[in-house]
Amino acid sequence: MLLHWHRCDLRAADNVALAEAADDDVLPVFVFDEAVLAHASPPRVAFMLDALANLRGWYRERGGDLAVGHGDPADVLVDVAAEHGADGVRWNHDYSGLAQRRDDAVRTALEGADLDHRAFHGDLHHEPGSITTNDGDPYSVYTYFWKKWRDREKEGPYDPPADEALVDHAGDDLPTLADLGFDDPDCEVEPAGADAARERLAAFCDGPIYEYAERRDYPAEGCTSRLSAHLRWGTIGVREVYAATEEALSGAADDEARESVEEFQSQLAWREFYTHVLFFNPGVVTENYREYENDIEWRDDDDALRAWKDGETGYPIVDAGMRQLREEGYLHNRVRMIVASFLTKDLLLDWREGYDWFRERLVDHHTGNDNGGWQWAASTGTDAQPYFRIFNPMTQGERYDPDAEYIRRYIPELSDVDPGDVHAWHELETDERETLAPAYPAPVVDHGERREAALAMFERARGESDD
Ligand SMILES: Cc1cc2nc3c(=O)[nH]c(=O)nc-3n(C[C@H](O)[C@H](O)[C@H](O)COP(=O)(O)OP(=O)(O)OC[C@H]3O[C@@H](n4cnc5c(N)ncnc54)[C@H](O)[C@@H]3O)c2cc1C
Repeated sequence: MLLHWHRCDLRAADNVALAEAADDDVLPVFVFDEAVLAHASPPRVAFMLDALANLRGWYRERGGDLAVGHGDPADVLVDVAAEHGADGVRWNHDYSGLAQRRDDAVRTALEGADLDHRAFHGDLHHEPGSITTNDGDPYSVYTYFWKKWRDREKEGPYDPPADEALVDHAGDDLPTLADLGFDDPDCEVEPAGADAARERLAAFCDGPIYEYAERRDYPAEGCTSRLSAHLRWGTIGVREVYAATEEALSGAADDEARESVEEFQSQLAWREFYTHVLFFNPGVVTENYREYENDIEWRDDDDALRAWKDGETGYPIVDAGMRQLREEGYLHNRVRMIVASFLTKDLLLDWREGYDWFRERLVDHHTGNDNGGWQWAASTGTDAQPYFRIFNPMTQGERYDPDAEYIRRYIPELSDVDPGDVHAWHELETDERETLAPAYPAPVVDHGERREAALAMFERARGESDD
């Protein structure tokens, strides 16, 4: 009999390590690990508990159950294995530095207890080290990575374990948020679980996927898959998602629709690209990927940081995004790029401040993707936005939310303001702003001035690094 240790793979279907374990009898286990929970936050833990309740329900309906432990997984897994007479443990790899150190300690403990262990790359199509330059180095440029990723053959989804493979066992109750020391989330957390994930996938592949390339940048339209929290927590497997996109591809009406499906597949590849970057460079969680950007003198400004977090900067598209993040634990990709650029290039604040806030608020916080996104926006990462290409928050708002529909959805103070005035907010006179929307703030900085200051800040840093 084997244990399957669930971590960020809270599903039974399309789970490589679980499927392999289920060749034998299998007891699934989840461990509430203090070291991991120390980095967690209420929205994410709420989603995780909902996903675990769904997963446990799946096992129970089939005569099995999820064993639940608390503490250091190195101790808990050895104890659970001893209690149930298991021969070994299986799991899917997790790629952050913290996860790798934890897994090394678990391996040592299992070997000490004479237990077999094996890990699988079940949450990626192509594991780190499998897509490299001709010299065998990991890619730092996405386009080359994507071409190889796209052309590689992909496995199909794995079956869930057969009912007979599940060990009959009555697991302990799952803890509540309060038991784990968290407050209730102060935002709406979307439903977790495999059924919710499959519904999202089916709805997306039924139509929006064919317009994805054209519409994905418009936050008011909700034309993206909204699968990020499910992919992050593994409530759906990557092979199952990819198979659905291949089916959509075969049903595409024309070249445009086909290209749109491929555009979506290329986003799935970004997730793997950033996971590879993280695996080979675990230090990026706290350090710039580009060392020569290490001399950037970010500003300290608590008031500006507070205004950004509260959605009170006086730049409507930025504020709408930051309020969506607060209310929903989610943020549209285009707007993530805009708010991250604003923090680093207009407020001149360190991307790590933004990353910390995203980590606290996002249900889909994924170390590789979040870090990759922030270092892209800050021009410090792999294949990042060049430091001299600075988003203009007004024109971004005008281009991607022309009717100010998204902006006014999240900023009620602007609900009666004409879109033209919303997009020209920074240019209006003080008395005009006070007449139109007295409760909405004036811009906290002048974009033109800050753009120049950002360019100077980067050029100074690069000059100093050359010395
Ligand atoms: C500053 C910043 C921070 C980000 N933080 C995260 C994060 O913590 N977690 C996260 O999953 N994504 C993050 N992203 C990437 C992207 O914004 C989200 O994946 C996307 O908005 C999620 O919505 P969706 O599922 O509807 O995306 P879709 O457009 O439907 O994309 C499908 C899936 O592809 C992956 N994906 C899409 N875009 C990217 C990307 N640029 N990089 C990596 N993977 C991508 C995600 O898994 C996503 O669910 C971040 C981007 C930026 C600029």
